[in-house]
Amino acid sequence: MSLIFHTKDLSNSSFLITGGAGFIGSHIAEYLLKNGAKKVRVLDNFANGFQSNIDILSTYPAFEFIEGDIRDAETCKQACNGIDYVSHQAALGSVPRSIADPVSSAAVNVSGFVNMLKAAVDNNVKQFVYASSSSVYGDEKTLPKIESRVGNCLSPYAVTKKTNELYAEVFANTYGLKIMGFRYFNVFGPRQDPDGQYAAVIPLFVKGILHRTPVFINGDGKQTRDFTFVENAVQINVKGMLTDNPDAVNKVYNVAIGENFSVNDLYNKCREHLQSDFEPTYREPRAGDIRDSLADISLAKSLLDYQPTKRFQDGLIETINFFKKVYTK
Ligand code: NAD
Repeated sequence: MSLIFHTKDLSNSSFLITGGAGFIGSHIAEYLLKNGAKKVRVLDNFANGFQSNIDILSTYPAFEFIEGDIRDAETCKQACNGIDYVSHQAALGSVPRSIADPVSSAAVNVSGFVNMLKAAVDNNVKQFVYASSSSVYGDEKTLPKIESRVGNCLSPYAVTKKTNELYAEVFANTYGLKIMGFRYFNVFGPRQDPDGQYAAVIPLFVKGILHRTPVFINGDGKQTRDFTFVENAVQINVKGMLTDNPDAVNKVYNVAIGENFSVNDLYNKCREHLQSDFEPTYREPRAGDIRDSLADISLAKSLLDYQPTKRFQDGLIETINFFKKVYTK
């Protein structure tokens, strides 16, 4: 990732990235470190994060790591001390995980979120951005999705993210916190968790195709997603934290490409790139999943100058190549 998404000098600014040992957070932290930020602090408890991501970041002198839990208010307070900008990514992701264990999802994604907001207010953080999710659109069927039109939530995970948005609005109005949320649409890329019960779909496809072990597609595979390469999520976080546009704050934004592909398309592209004829196995649709997803990204374009830099196919090839190396080591 060598594109530049900021114009300001970062050498006087300190950043906190929660969830920085994870997929998206580690890419945001790496961008800031590469571009000369004064300090980049990561707070993560390794619930789903990896030491290998921290090892990559540790090569930069401006990097600091706090191993800690956002469910602990005091830890959040310490993490925000001396920080100008916060990008809050720490959460328990995954719809099925939240269905299996809604209590933990609420504790981390809601209570942990409020701890972070309070810590940011108490430490006079200049700007706070956080990860919401396209899951807040729930059963709203109209495409493309626009920020102002959401439906009923279909999972505990979606409730936690919708609750984040409600708290964000109240903290903006009550405490004057400058805050914005990003509704990510199926972010993918290198370093996405390839293993475990809730692994993401692209690493699972690549692994199965390479090893010719069963690859499962939920439902008929015709469900569509606005698959978003991680570089675009980095871009919006950087632009959101650093924006001087007063109209941009206290809003939520779709973060996507604005094009959708089916899960079958995704599988076929993986198979084509890996030069395989391996067939997937279709199984029951997954509870809590939406059928189609496509974002209108005009709000982020107009207020944050968001311009997706890498479209689906290009990002996919980079991602497949990354996981091919992981699985053929
Ligand atoms: P990830 O699981 O790779 O990263 C989340 C990080 O948060 C992990 O490193 C984990 O260890 C950390 N964490 C979890 N609980 C914690 C706690 N109690 N205290 C401190 N750290 C904790 O997930 P990701 O894909 O990088 O997602 C980042 C954010 O974006 C999450 O908030 C997620 O809900 C949201 N999101 C992701 C996607 C996607 O497609 N990847 C889509 C929509 C929303």
